[in-house]
Amino acid sequence: MSDRSPSEIARETFKLLAVKRLAPTPDNYQVLYHEVAGTLAPAHFPSEHLRKIAGVLPAKNPGQQKHLGLLNSAINQRSWEGVQNALIGFAGFGMVSSGNTEPSPLTPLSPAAGPLATPEFLEQIARLIENALPALGNDDLRFIEQARELVNLLRQPAVDLIRMKTMLGNFSHRLSFTAEDQSEIRATLLHLLHMVFENIAELCLDDRWLKGQIDALIDASTPPLTLRRLDDVQRRLKDVIFKQAEAKGRAYEAQAQMQQLLATFVDRLSLMTESSSAYHGTIEECARQIEQAKTLEELGPVLQNAIAATRHMASETMRSRDDLQAMRAKTESAEAEISKLHHELDRVSAQARHDPLTGALNRRGLDEAIQREISTARRKGTHLCLALLDIDNFKKLNDDLGHEAGDAALTHLANVTRECMRPQDTLARYGGEEFVILLPDTELEHGIATLTRLQRELTKQFFLRENMKVLITFSAGVAQLTPDETAIDGIKRADQAMYIAKRTGKNRVLGG
Ligand code: GH3
Ligand code: MG
Ligand code: MG
Repeated sequence: MSDRSPSEIARETFKLLAVKRLAPTPDNYQVLYHEVAGTLAPAHFPSEHLRKIAGVLPAKNPGQQKHLGLLNSAINQRSWEGVQNALIGFAGFGMVSSGNTEPSPLTPLSPAAGPLATPEFLEQIARLIENALPALGNDDLRFIEQARELVNLLRQPAVDLIRMKTMLGNFSHRLSFTAEDQSEIRATLLHLLHMVFENIAELCLDDRWLKGQIDALIDASTPPLTLRRLDDVQRRLKDVIFKQAEAKGRAYEAQAQMQQLLATFVDRLSLMTESSSAYHGTIEECARQIEQAKTLEELGPVLQNAIAATRHMASETMRSRDDLQAMRAKTESAEAEISKLHHELDRVSAQARHDPLTGALNRRGLDEAIQREISTARRKGTHLCLALLDIDNFKKLNDDLGHEAGDAALTHLANVTRECMRPQDTLARYGGEEFVILLPDTELEHGIATLTRLQRELTKQFFLRENMKVLITFSAGVAQLTPDETAIDGIKRADQAMYIAKRTGKNRVLGG
């Protein structure tokens, strides 16, 4: 090994090139450099010869042109591996029959060569990037720009694979940070949302209605989040805001009424004081005149005055009392209305769209959910199944065990159903002992299988009543919604199938 510095070796190499009268080509320089340095020259890379070969290769179609470009870059980089890959790629395009300039679908020549960068393959990568972008937000402008550049490059007719590889590497590096950021932002926002909800809950300890709503919000915004749950959070928040605004409006009205009442009360009070001091004056004057009177005749008009003043005073007092009573009645009715409103709020609160007994959606909630599922299914072109189930012989259960046991059985069925369902399925109480299950992205056959699984589950998870195992069975009809069928018609078909299931022996699931 030489102990000279690289610049000394370089200087010496140039001298030697001149002495040997060799052309200063990279190859000659490399050979002499290693000679001067006393190091081992790497295997010779015949760039010149390879370039000559590349020069005579045909470039008849875009595929061949692209791979010739790759070959030249590999030669410039003295990369045998690159040369090999470019030649393999080139050979693939060479198989095109003469006259046909379109590249044929390619298959790798050997498993080691890996999939070739066909336009279809590159288009798939471009689409993958485009589809992933919305999930990554648009806070990082450089990242978006990078993605756009990369997609443009991938869609060019002759892609520079080396450049693409570098850009893909950079993109993937930045993507990892962006994805991490996004997930952290989401977690932090969710945490913040929880803090806000909890804070509101602390502030409204005395407002049962609001507390109920906030509890539901906290529940609905607990991970794992799905679009359905977020939708639920949104609807509940809208409810809270709407009802709050309503209650606030009524409270303002009541406050204004109170203010008016107070103002009138003060007015009346000063009028009463005025009239009572006038009355005082009159009575004092009367007393003075009575003292000074010498004859009975003189007393007559004085007494008349006193009586008139007293009457006037009495009627004034009565009027004030009537006015005040009317105002009090008004305030009481405002108070009653507010308390009625609060009562109403209590009633509609968490149960606005849910059945209070089973926690399943009620009819109103079902109507909304069904419309949402129908439009999602039509937008995505997926199937939607509606199942209607009716508990068998429920009247008998009620009669034998009591209404309370009947209620508990309904809750039990709802709980077991929820356990069996996928998160995207929806359970609603359709009527007394009838439930509807919405099964998005499900074909009829799988819808029937889901309900059959629920039947089996109910034979394992018994309903326990006073240590007695009570088997709950149901009959169900399942309908897969046709492309232009309404929710009502879909349920009607499921109902007809359920009816046939009842007629043909109960404890059955039939398709509609
Ligand atoms: P089938 O197998 O033909 O469906 O018979 P069934 O007895 O289940 O049906 P039917 O329609 O004759 O009776 C339904 C019963 O469900 C009558 C009603 O009292 C009871 N029911 C409806 N809603 C409730 C409820 O919320 N709680 C309780 N405990 N019972 C209910
Ligand atoms: Mg029924
Ligand atoms: Mg029934």
